[in-house]
Amino acid sequence: MISDLLKIIAIKPSGAVLIGKHFTIDGFERRNIHVITHAHADHLGGLNQSVKYVEKIIATPATIDLILELGYVLNSNGLKALFKRKAYPLSYHEKLMIGDEELELLPAHHILGASQVVVRTGKYVIGYTGDFKLGEETEIIKEPDILIMETTYGDPNYRRPFKHYIEDFLVDLVFQGIETMKRVVIYGYHGKLQEAMKILRSKGVDYPFVMPPKIYRITRIAEKHGYRIGEYYNSLSREGREIIREGFYIYFDHMMRAKRRRLDGSRLNIVLSGWEFQQPVRRLDEYSWLVAMSDHADFDELIQYVEESKPRIVVLDASRQGSPKPLKRELEKRGWRVVILPVNDEYYIGIDNYYVG
Ligand SMILES: [Zn+2]
Repeated sequence: MISDLLKIIAIKPSGAVLIGKHFTIDGFERRNIHVITHAHADHLGGLNQSVKYVEKIIATPATIDLILELGYVLNSNGLKALFKRKAYPLSYHEKLMIGDEELELLPAHHILGASQVVVRTGKYVIGYTGDFKLGEETEIIKEPDILIMETTYGDPNYRRPFKHYIEDFLVDLVFQGIETMKRVVIYGYHGKLQEAMKILRSKGVDYPFVMPPKIYRITRIAEKHGYRIGEYYNSLSREGREIIREGFYIYFDHMMRAKRRRLDGSRLNIVLSGWEFQQPVRRLDEYSWLVAMSDHADFDELIQYVEESKPRIVVLDASRQGSPKPLKRELEKRGWRVVILPVNDEYYIGIDNYYVG
């Protein structure tokens, strides 16, 4: 019965995904275990409240490091110390029993440390994708009773047929920029920048990377957790300054500084953006290109995930930015049973914190 199955999960408007008896995921709820799928702000709601309340905060070791480095836990009232005490690093595929429920994190290709969550209650298997795109890292959760899925690009208009060539376009632009201007600056968000570094290295770009101190520290975290980058320098260090003087390097900077990029022919600018469906790269001005590098599954990949996962019920997360309604329609056309949660507050049955749609 669908309604029985839906009694073991809920999604709150705050973004908290509740599974089984013990777990609140990616949002605060009065439960004993808080699981975090990855270090993006829309999955870290209520964290500072949660730190005081829950017994354990579980995430991959990389996600825990990123949360601390990016300053998501306030450094006041001993919160940071409390977070460190309650943080419980759980590696991919390591299983942890909480009461009679088993928790496991699976890799998700999204940002460094990102995971999917599987909870086995004994009777049911419940999977939650968190944010993902398909790629070598994403392990599809097979045949769960319930699959809870993100819906960022859930509309059939959000297709990126060129997605498999993006990496090559990026590499070509970088070589072209170095050859013509000796300098390339890549703008993006934390996490995505490190992804770009990894791609460039794996495709044979061996110019030094230079970056401001914060991005440098995050890159060190990425290396600690398995990214192979190498030859990267803090822009304020002696070596960093020397490289900047000489040219033939790639500079990585935060997206918020892209507006103030230099357009004087001294460098080629590349802006990494997810929201682009018409073409893989687009010229912004004489010295800047936008590259459509997304962290999220496009519409086709969301459908593909469900078809390979074969869940009994698909639950679409409507608490975050996305297109759950078109995705529901498209999945139903293909024969899947789909529920959108949260429905709305009228359906909220307070006693067990469950929504029943
Ligand atoms: Zn995310």
